[in-house]
Amino acid sequence: MNQTYRAQCPCGQLAVHFAEAPVAQLVCHCRDCQTVSGMPYSNVAFFKVEDQCAQGEFNAINMTGGSGQAKQYRRCRQCDGFVYGTVDALEGLVGVNASSLKPPFEFSPMAHVWTSEKAAGVEIPAGAFQFPKAPPFRPGKG
Ligand SMILES: [Zn+2]
Ligand SMILES: [Zn+2]
Repeated sequence: MNQTYRAQCPCGQLAVHFAEAPVAQLVCHCRDCQTVSGMPYSNVAFFKVEDQCAQGEFNAINMTGGSGQAKQYRRCRQCDGFVYGTVDALEGLVGVNASSLKPPFEFSPMAHVWTSEKAAGVEIPAGAFQFPKAPPFRPGKG
């Protein structure tokens, strides 16, 4: 049976559901993720866009990623909680704040990206793959 995943903001107004498990997981240390999430880094789970079913009202924050591609973060219109976003460079995928996923999601990232912008004091586990900028592969495509 397929597991359904659900992510929502703290107040519950904005939620997104996915019919399939994430295709990739990354820890992103870029400054935009720090700003938007309010955390020193973001645990991001990537789902296929066609599996998503979103509900609720969001404020879209449009930015240009470090690789020059447009990206959009979506935060709840009521509580401003960050729930998910899209990056043009990762067409067809939706990046979800893994810590907001239900059921509780066992996060096991394949790599840490944008470590060149890592917040002071953040330790990357020994042995983890690290990329100073965007990963040289497209998550979910092998
Ligand atoms: Zn909310
Ligand atoms: Zn980021």
